[in-house]
Amino acid sequence: MSDDGIVMLAWSDYVGVTRCRAVPSDQYTERLETGLGWAVAGQALTPFADIAPNPWGPMLEVRQVPDPAARFTVDIWPDAPALDFVMCDSRTPDGELWDCCARGFLRTALDDLRDEAGVELLAAFEHEFTVLPRADVAPPFSLAAMREQAQLTHDIARALTAAGLTPETVEPEYGYSQYEVTVAPARGLAAADNAIATREIIRECARRLGVQASFSPKPFLDGPGNGAHVHFSFVAADGSNATYDPTHESGASALARSFIAGVVRHMPAMCALVAPSPVSYYRLGPHHWSCGYASFGVQNREAAIRICPSTSRDAGAQARGFNLELRPPDPTASPYLVLGALIRAGLEGVRAGLELPPACTTDPAELTDDERSSMGIVPLPASLEEAIAVFLADDKAVGWMPDTMRDSYLDVKRMEQSLADVETDEENVARYRKAY
Ligand code: GLU
Ligand code: MG
Repeated sequence: MSDDGIVMLAWSDYVGVTRCRAVPSDQYTERLETGLGWAVAGQALTPFADIAPNPWGPMLEVRQVPDPAARFTVDIWPDAPALDFVMCDSRTPDGELWDCCARGFLRTALDDLRDEAGVELLAAFEHEFTVLPRADVAPPFSLAAMREQAQLTHDIARALTAAGLTPETVEPEYGYSQYEVTVAPARGLAAADNAIATREIIRECARRLGVQASFSPKPFLDGPGNGAHVHFSFVAADGSNATYDPTHESGASALARSFIAGVVRHMPAMCALVAPSPVSYYRLGPHHWSCGYASFGVQNREAAIRICPSTSRDAGAQARGFNLELRPPDPTASPYLVLGALIRAGLEGVRAGLELPPACTTDPAELTDDERSSMGIVPLPASLEEAIAVFLADDKAVGWMPDTMRDSYLDVKRMEQSLADVETDEENVARYRKAY
């Protein structure tokens, strides 16, 4: 770690933007205890130069306090200074977690998961993005598409590794100039920290090459969306996979079955947190592999949550590899809010002792209304406005966040919606393409 540059004290806010303030690297250790101040009203920022009405005013401050376990340093560019940032908790001046801290929302959800279910979350995001300017030459998933961005994809793997992350795949996706990167799963807060770091590192690699990596859920109306699917499982105290039970026909443990049921029940409400932008709803919908219904499936890529059995023939590897995937999230959602909402929804199912819903074995959009309702499958919201209304109508979901956090979060989202309302679809998509 170089000591002659700057380190950015960073946090991910309501709109999933990584904000920061920086200090000279040689003063970093002095900042570990109390961090840096930040005007609380900044939490009401949209991804643009707008600030939503908020309860805080000009006086209140929080401290952005670094978590040294979440520092990421990449020093691989001969012609540019190191990228060096550390994720922070937002704390009140007396050191308590601020009730509107996104990382704090996940932290408390993880604590409850540990207390109530005795497990830790192990998770990884799939990072889809589009390189701008978009080319329209190489076919989907092709070697040619990979070589079109040979330098970028190479730099991404190198930079992620330099930051202490473990890239697993770097690959072309379905859309023109669309790629996907995955890194190894991590436990607890690190899963979200790593997701934020991965995105920022990918953005930086692109920036260094004079292009943009856009994580907008729908960078172009005429192309596929960018999702941020989450793969996850539970780790028991003895380190075993608490998601897995080979004696049940589904392969899922009793805990996982109730958790899945909770997620399916609260999936429409979760959308306000995991698909949280006006443009999210150009992506979500049937026939896009992003999902349009609150459904559960095994392998089914049109299901909102699916079981992903391991492909290994070895029993131990099967047990370790068994995981679940949540598909509605997109990259305009802070990974802290995504994982926090996932745990909150799942724990509702665990508390209520819900049973696994019937697995949907087809695209739920292909079923009739009667078939869907007999399986308890409901559509996901079709707009951010509807998502907010559905969230507020879910008497469990409204209690997931502290009141001030919920209300101020929704005010920011309403402001984004009102900005989108006066634009054409193209203008809206273009604005988010640049911001994310
Ligand atoms: N791009 C799709 C989405 O928006 C996902 C495609 C895939 O299954 O990888 O979620
Ligand atoms: Mg993909």
